[in-house]
Amino acid sequence: MVKTRTFPKGGIHPHGRKTLSNTAAVERLPFPKTAVVPMSQHLGAPAAVCVAKGDSVEVGQKIGTGESFISADIHAPVSGTVKDIITIVLPNSVRTQAVVIETEETFDESILENTFRRELNEGDLVAKLSSQDLIGIVKKAGVVGMGGAAFPSHVKFQVPKGKKAEYLVINGVECEPYLTSDHRLMLEHADEIIDGIRAVQKMINAPQVIIGIEKNKMDAVEKMEKAVAARGLTYIVQPLKVKYPQGDEKQLLKAVIKREVPSGGLPIEIGAVVSNVGSIFAVYEAVFSGKPLIDRVVTVTGDAVRRPGNFRTAVGTPIRQLIEAAGGFKESPAKIVAGGPMMGFSFFDLDSPVTKGTSGILALTDKNLDHSPQTACIFCGKCVAVCPMGLQPTKLFRLIDNGNFDEAMKLNLMDCKECGCCAYTCPAKIPLVHGFKYGKKMARKKS
Ligand code: SF4
Ligand code: SF4
Repeated sequence: MVKTRTFPKGGIHPHGRKTLSNTAAVERLPFPKTAVVPMSQHLGAPAAVCVAKGDSVEVGQKIGTGESFISADIHAPVSGTVKDIITIVLPNSVRTQAVVIETEETFDESILENTFRRELNEGDLVAKLSSQDLIGIVKKAGVVGMGGAAFPSHVKFQVPKGKKAEYLVINGVECEPYLTSDHRLMLEHADEIIDGIRAVQKMINAPQVIIGIEKNKMDAVEKMEKAVAARGLTYIVQPLKVKYPQGDEKQLLKAVIKREVPSGGLPIEIGAVVSNVGSIFAVYEAVFSGKPLIDRVVTVTGDAVRRPGNFRTAVGTPIRQLIEAAGGFKESPAKIVAGGPMMGFSFFDLDSPVTKGTSGILALTDKNLDHSPQTACIFCGKCVAVCPMGLQPTKLFRLIDNGNFDEAMKLNLMDCKECGCCAYTCPAKIPLVHGFKYGKKMARKKS
């Protein structure tokens, strides 16, 4: 077994609460009667709608074209009829166009599986196809990062001229409390993830692969090690100490290859490409069965939910349907979050659709919320001690509070990952992350 590692500076240890949802295999959710498919499910420019009201669409058909360099195509998650094209607001406050598809009554899982069936006689597609062919498949499938920012994968896997990828680092950390969808994927699809990794390794031509997994998922470490060994590969499965926010790519790289991404830079500048296990599984499906990214595993959890679990869900499914699949609410939730408790977005509209980036839905009762009042800063320095980016949260907040955005920028405000470690630790309950989000917005407006 390889020695356990972690990132050196800052970080916190919130209660994981992962056993709540990680009790059974992933369950496939019935397809929604009506799918509402947003055109902005990724970082960068929204896709442009390429169907019209009244059109019939087949599952997997492109319904939105990513026209800009940083964008991604969007596909129909079901077969049916385009009923409308509307504007909606997602839980992360993004306003976007969405294609409303009424699902064909006869559409079911067997149609999905027959449409995207693995062609066993095609041999080893990774060996057969060129790296550019593979990147083209990923682009055509609309694959994006599924662990956080939803950055278009075909852009990430295109190593810029003059740069070299020495390492492909696979992010199996899932450090956000409550979330377990990546854990389930590794337990249930280790072989497919290995094939996805082989494809990405070829795309970026990286000689070394490291799969980082926190020690609270030792069963996944073992599964991945077995899958690696069964193929005779030299990939390293790296167990990591449990520490938040290790799933952030900068912290993960410090932990596994001991290199630091420069301020404002990208991992490729230190010879690395990082990809989350969910995205790697989507690459596998795109390469080996031609399936675009039209569904994903979502954790539905929290003390307000009757039967927490993980559900494989079509993009565009109303979140209400996921809550119902999880047995509904056993108590009225005081807060519902899209994502995890540290970096997720609070929302209340249960008709909001699942997107490519929806890793979890967390519903909490009042018992789990901290209502302590905000007080004045006592200059305890705890926020500084836990900041993994080496920032001075207390000073940054004061500068932003006084409208001094230029000075905040000089103290590297833009390096803030909005991980929430500082706010979590602050005894004065100062809304530090809200302040940093506001400060960044204002600084961008001024520039
Ligand atoms: S939210 Fe920003 S300032 Fe606070 S700990 Fe995280 S990176 Fe540091
Ligand atoms: S943790 Fe809170 S109270 Fe302590 S220095 Fe930072 S902002 Fe002030």
